[in-house]
Amino acid sequence: MTRTMEADATDAGLNDTVALLQAMIREACVNDGSVESGQEVRNVNVLQRFLAGAVATGRLEVHVYASAPGRSSLIARVRGTDPDAPALGLVGHLDVVPVNPDGWSRNPFGGELIDGEIWGRGAVDMLYLTAAFATVLRDAALSDTPLRGDLVLLAVADEEAGSEHGIHWLLREHAAAVHVTEAISESGGMRMGRHVAIEVAEKGSAGRRLVVHGTPGHASIPYGAAGAVTRMGEVLNRLSSVTPIAQLGPLWAAFVNARIDDPELAERMLDPVRLDAVLPKLGGIAGYAHAISRITISPTILRSGHTHNVIPSHGELDLDIRTLPGTTDAEVDELLRAMLGDLADAVEIEHLRGWPATASPATTPLFAAIERAVTEVSGEPVVPIMAAGGSDNRVLRGIGIPAYGFGLLGPEWSYEKYREGVHGNNERIDLGSIGLTLAALRRIVADRVG
Ligand SMILES: [Zn+2]
Repeated sequence: MTRTMEADATDAGLNDTVALLQAMIREACVNDGSVESGQEVRNVNVLQRFLAGAVATGRLEVHVYASAPGRSSLIARVRGTDPDAPALGLVGHLDVVPVNPDGWSRNPFGGELIDGEIWGRGAVDMLYLTAAFATVLRDAALSDTPLRGDLVLLAVADEEAGSEHGIHWLLREHAAAVHVTEAISESGGMRMGRHVAIEVAEKGSAGRRLVVHGTPGHASIPYGAAGAVTRMGEVLNRLSSVTPIAQLGPLWAAFVNARIDDPELAERMLDPVRLDAVLPKLGGIAGYAHAISRITISPTILRSGHTHNVIPSHGELDLDIRTLPGTTDAEVDELLRAMLGDLADAVEIEHLRGWPATASPATTPLFAAIERAVTEVSGEPVVPIMAAGGSDNRVLRGIGIPAYGFGLLGPEWSYEKYREGVHGNNERIDLGSIGLTLAALRRIVADRVG
């Protein structure tokens, strides 16, 4: 804790980072998935004002690119002196997910500071990091000591809806501007036991639509009918009565060792056959443990029928399916057919959007720098983890760039608390965590490109 207080008290950038975070929350760049939403240009404008002084020195190059009206991203680069040095990308998204204001006890877009916490949508996911990235980049540009390698802020649109108008578009249309050799972004810094979690892998997505066929008829004579709606119920029943088997990858043992104190429980969790029986004993971490140990299948959308007196001939059931590193599309389809059994003949499987699981090795110089920085600032060890969801890290990994989910939250930030904050009601972050993150980030930057 002494180190925490020290980080808070000595980082001159903390006040500026907090003010920047508040300003970005208040712009309410809410991304609902439609192309008109997000309007990240507003947060780009906030960043441009924040960086103006550094641009004036001539040491910071800033470019703004819009993939669609209002869907702007900002790329700011401090050039290093050594062309062989790494180019470190700081990837922060500018958009936030929608809110249900009824669930909030404060204005979700007020950016208020209450009892040492900044409140608002995006405070945790991930505007505090985007603000910390901008602060450290600005300070590097204002410093008289040149950097060895490039330091690049990629402040991007549309992460929350799949990044099509953000990092995907930038990589297609402005690849040279995006150029980095390694990167950090969101989804790290929460605690697994006393360890600080750094994300090195993300599950993949393999969305599927099950088109279910049945026999149409008049609803007034249901005897013997095999309508699509009834069949969809049977399909759902099959899918929920079978749990895909556990496949414990290379990160599993580290997670168990970091998080589970009871040695007997830990031993059972390391056995794929005995794991499922102990999931109910895992409390708030059970969902995460379940998700990262197997392929998961979540039914999310049902569609069938037009008229209440007609038994429909077909229906559609959309599934959110999350895959592990190495899972192929064919394996997902085979798994579904096996789960459906004899119902499989009445079902067509269509592919929705997806992407493979991704991982960066925990053996790169950047990961070592993150580990050193986090441990120096927090006094605790690091555990590499796999995220159940996706972030822009996956896009960079997809083109061969090592990318990690960074952050350094206070000791009270269990994985459960983090999950609750992200996309939930009353999202907020404490100033202590912002100070810790800044302190670790400055060390990483100095280590890699300073
Ligand atoms: Zn995010």
